[in-house]
Amino acid sequence: MKIVERRIYNKDGVEGPKYDPYGWVEYTLLVNGKRFVYHLGLAEWIRLPNNKRIDMTIKRNGKIIDKIFEKLTGLNFLGLEKAWERIHNPKKCKKCGSKKRKWMNGFPGETLEVCGKCDRIIYSHFDESAIM
Ligand SMILES: [Zn+2]
Repeated sequence: MKIVERRIYNKDGVEGPKYDPYGWVEYTLLVNGKRFVYHLGLAEWIRLPNNKRIDMTIKRNGKIIDKIFEKLTGLNFLGLEKAWERIHNPKKCKKCGSKKRKWMNGFPGETLEVCGKCDRIIYSHFDESAIM
């Protein structure tokens, strides 16, 4: 699957009985307009764009839903956390120390993440489908 657009959302909360609350975290990933949800808490499941939910009931199956999610979206749970971290806690620019970011178009099909202050290129994303 060629990724044209990818957005990531994160929320968290508490589930389970009041006397034994359990923290959960949930990532919603929009890939080319399709919605994938990864819920990790007392219950662990993923929800596919067709609303089908795959539950992880036995602990050792955790790796399996992780693999399914990765195959469909290109990101596993760790990848989601890293992507979220990179977007929301960007590292300081090596040149000027700014944490501001902006997106620019580079060559056709190329998107550049650049420092908002000094325009140093931090990350570039190349999308083949954009030039076909
Ligand atoms: Zn900079």
